[in-house]
Amino acid sequence: MRPLDEQRVSCPYCGESIDILVDQQEAGQEYIEDCQVCCKPIVFNLSVDSMGHLTVLVRDENEAY
Ligand SMILES: [Zn+2]
Repeated sequence: MRPLDEQRVSCPYCGESIDILVDQQEAGQEYIEDCQVCCKPIVFNLSVDSMGHLTVLVRDENEAY
């Protein structure tokens, strides 16, 4: 299992593709990082599916659960 995984996500604000490096050990966590393009805060949610693949969900900060 690779410790770091590169994932491509789309910014929920501007739609720009962003490559991020995620750590398997961060699964289940949520963190906020500013978009490199539009500088708005993107909420990253890391989860692991039943196959053990790390999945990254992004949403905008103001979006309700
Ligand atoms: Zn953006």
